[in-house]
Amino acid sequence: MKNLQDLLRPNIRSLKPYSSARDEFHGEASVFLDANENPYNEPYNRYPDPMQRALKERISVLKDIAPEHIFTGNGSDEAIDLVIRAFCEPGIDNMVTITPSYGMYEVAADINNVKCVRVPLSADFRLDAGAVLDAADSHTKLICLCSPNNPTGNLLDREEIYRILKYFNGIVVADEAYIDFAPSLSLIRGLVSYPNLIVLQTLSKAWGGAGIRLGMAFASPWIIDVLNKIKYPYNVSLVAQEHALALLKRENRMEDQLAVILNERARLGEALGKLPFVRRIYPSDANFILVRVNDADYTYNYLVGRKVIVRNRHRVSLCENCLRITVGAPEENNMLIKALNEMTL
Ligand code: PMP
Repeated sequence: MKNLQDLLRPNIRSLKPYSSARDEFHGEASVFLDANENPYNEPYNRYPDPMQRALKERISVLKDIAPEHIFTGNGSDEAIDLVIRAFCEPGIDNMVTITPSYGMYEVAADINNVKCVRVPLSADFRLDAGAVLDAADSHTKLICLCSPNNPTGNLLDREEIYRILKYFNGIVVADEAYIDFAPSLSLIRGLVSYPNLIVLQTLSKAWGGAGIRLGMAFASPWIIDVLNKIKYPYNVSLVAQEHALALLKRENRMEDQLAVILNERARLGEALGKLPFVRRIYPSDANFILVRVNDADYTYNYLVGRKVIVRNRHRVSLCENCLRITVGAPEENNMLIKALNEMTL
C-alpha cells in the first residue's frame, strides 16, 4: 500500500488552512468579541461550532467509533466533493466508479475536471472487483462504490469490496447512504483493517433529515483531518447541528419508521408484481425499488398525470425501461398502487 500522504494533492499537503475565531479560542468565557457577530438575537447570531463536537459525540456513541474518525458536512455530497478535491489533481488524476450508480460521483468529478471511468456492473447488478481494479491506472487516486447501490437497490458483494480495498493503491469510498435499510452491517468496522477506506452515511434517508443537509464520513483520523482542513470553516449551520442532534437522540422513532418502511417495501413489491406490465422487480436492500416495465416513459408520464412522481431511469445504463420507486408512507403507496392498477395499456 502506498503511503497515504503521497496520494494527497501537493497543494493540499502544503495548505495552511483558514483559522476561524471559533477555532482559535477554546474554553469558558462570558464575553465574545472575537467574531464580529451581532450581540442580539441569540442563539443564531453566533457562529456554530466549526468542528460540530456535540453532534460527533452522539454519532460516536451510535456508531461505536471515536469522534476523530468522524467528519460531518453539508450532506454526504459535500464529502464526495472534498474527497475528490483532496486527492485528485485536475486534468491529471482520475477516479473509477461503477455504473449504474449515484450520479453525483461523476458530476463532482466533472466539476473538478477529474476524469471519471465508469465500470459496468453485471446485468443483475453485481460488482466485479477484477474489472474495477483493471480500470485503475497509475493516475487513479479514488474508487467510488455505493452499497446498497442507487438506483439498483442491492448491496454489493462484501468480498468484492474487500478485494478492491486490499489490492487498490488509493482511496476507496463506500457510500452507505442506504445502509440502515439493509440486512448487513456497515463497513465502518473495516476501518481498522483498511486505512484507505472512507465510509459515507447520511441523515437524509432512514433518519428523515434530508432537509437539514447532514452527511457523515468515517475514516482514519488522518483522512478526517484532511477533510476538515479543506472544508468551509462553518460548513454545518447551527440549525442543522441542533436538529441533527435532536434526530439522533430519537433513535427509537427512527427504528419504528424503519420497520414500517421495510414492511411497506415488501407490500409494494408484491403489489407491483401483480401488474401485467411489470417485467421485473429487482430485490432491494434500500428504501426504493427498481422495477422494469414494458414502457417506462409511458408509465412515468401516466403517473405524473395522476400526480404521483417516481424516478424514470430508462436512460441510465443497464436500466432500460426501469423506474425507481421510493417506498413512501402506506397511504402514498396505496395511491401509487391504485394509479398503476388503473393504467390502461
Ligand atoms: N449517496 C447516495 C447513494 C444517494 O442516493 C444520495 C442522495 N440521493 C446521496 C449520497 C446524497 O446524500 P445527502 O443528502 O447526504 O447529500
